[in-house]
Amino acid sequence: MNFKDYIRVIPDFPQPGIRFKDITTLLKDAEAYRKAVETIADKVRHLNVDLIAGPEARGFVVGAPLALMLGVGFVPIRKSGKLPGETVETSYDLEYGSDKLAIHKDAIKPGQRVLVADDLLATGGTIATTVKLVRMLGGEVAGAAFLIELGYLNGREKLEGLDVYSLMTY
Ligand code: 5GP
Repeated sequence: MNFKDYIRVIPDFPQPGIRFKDITTLLKDAEAYRKAVETIADKVRHLNVDLIAGPEARGFVVGAPLALMLGVGFVPIRKSGKLPGETVETSYDLEYGSDKLAIHKDAIKPGQRVLVADDLLATGGTIATTVKLVRMLGGEVAGAAFLIELGYLNGREKLEGLDVYSLMTY
């Protein structure tokens, strides 16, 4: 299956000059969505993780089904102020300004092996922040998985030393 056939590229979203990779066209196709997640699951199964952690919102639509397929739990990473329990937070830089991501303090036990997952790796800022939160709780980040990697933005450099898997590269 050529997964790229299911990705719609939308020019000038959210800003002029950006070619946004729209994954909703893959998600609505039952077979493509299942096969995409299955293929990632097969690539990362050997990492033997205890948990998957994914940032909102599109990290959930990749991370949660991946967790079910691997038979492990899922930990949501959310924008500050959204999680109901006690959290740890860290800020990260955006193109203009900064934002904060949060994780429940008791979501990960020290030493647990965690795979971080998101829909897309661009500059790597979002996933690097996710990795940082997992490590703040003592989790061991075993690898990272994505549907899409924008290779020309070199986000991988922020994940040095980790096993990084992406289903599609642009
Ligand atoms: P980064 O932090 O690596 O620069 O950007 C990745 C984050 O931004 C991911 O959470 C992803 O959901 C979102 N993102 C950035 N560009 C795109 C895109 O073209 N398509 C999709 N689906 N998400 C994007």
